[in-house]
Amino acid sequence: MIVLSGGTGTPKLLIGLKEVADFSVIVNTAEDLWISGNKICPDIDSVIYALAEIIDEEKWWGIRGDSFKTHEMLRLLGHDELMAVGDLDRATHILRSEFLRRGFSLVRATKAVAKAYGVKQEVYPMCNEEVATTILTPSGEMHFQEFWVKEKGIPEVLDIYFKGIEKARIPEEVKILLKDEEILIGPSNPITSILPILSVEDFRKRLIGKKVVAISPIIGKSPFSGPAVKFMRAKGFEVSPLGVLEVYKDFITALVVDESDSKLVSEKIFATRTIMKNKEDAVKLSEYILKLFDRL
Ligand code: GDP
Repeated sequence: MIVLSGGTGTPKLLIGLKEVADFSVIVNTAEDLWISGNKICPDIDSVIYALAEIIDEEKWWGIRGDSFKTHEMLRLLGHDELMAVGDLDRATHILRSEFLRRGFSLVRATKAVAKAYGVKQEVYPMCNEEVATTILTPSGEMHFQEFWVKEKGIPEVLDIYFKGIEKARIPEEVKILLKDEEILIGPSNPITSILPILSVEDFRKRLIGKKVVAISPIIGKSPFSGPAVKFMRAKGFEVSPLGVLEVYKDFITALVVDESDSKLVSEKIFATRTIMKNKEDAVKLSEYILKLFDRL
């Protein structure tokens, strides 16, 4: 099974999925950025930390129990970083960037970092090239992280685009993975986490004819967490599980919605509890997904 992932909802699921299935993960890298000389891949980091079971389960980013001494010291010295980078988390970014500075591709650097953390599953970036999710607001365009972290997601969103996507290529290793017949799209933001992956070359077309199951990150009329509402609206989609289905309509086999949306159940829509409060919830949802794949 291949899982497409962003940095919060799907990593939550992976903590359970790794107990019951073998899989590889293809991760969004359009939110990556360089900070203080190191490349941060927020979604890859969260996937690796989730699989290594060291993720901070309160914030769903960074390492549990991390401190922020270097970040604080830099601020006192007059260098204010866009994001609060944890001290242990920074070690990951330094390691990745050292590999990149030695000439490794992001695919190779990611493999090396995942191995260093003892992760058994294969974790791949969606591409080796740099892509930047850019948000157009009434006061101009800004990087996704500037919008979400610095501006706290407050500005109106007029449009979203993925700068550099036309130059991005599906890595050879990912092309091989995509021969797999079972694809799971975790409960990640359809616009900022999954759409960039689908937009690399002909990635979307490669999913047609396969068993593709997606879990809705939208419950009722709102996302469980995060900024999906503004992004889905800006792209012209209804903010509901049906809107999620619409984003994936050309290739999706089944959409799993939360039990509270069971009125939507149809030939293509299945309902179960999708809210994950702990590992047990993630294991139960994963077992449901495995059974669903068998039925399809
Ligand atoms: P990002 O990269 O941090 O934006 O993370 P993702 O795109 O992977 O995840 C964000 C999405 O996860 C949001 O749209 C949330 O609604 C969804 N999400 C987070 N936790 C849960 C959960 O327990 N259940 C479901 N169904 N969705 C969740």
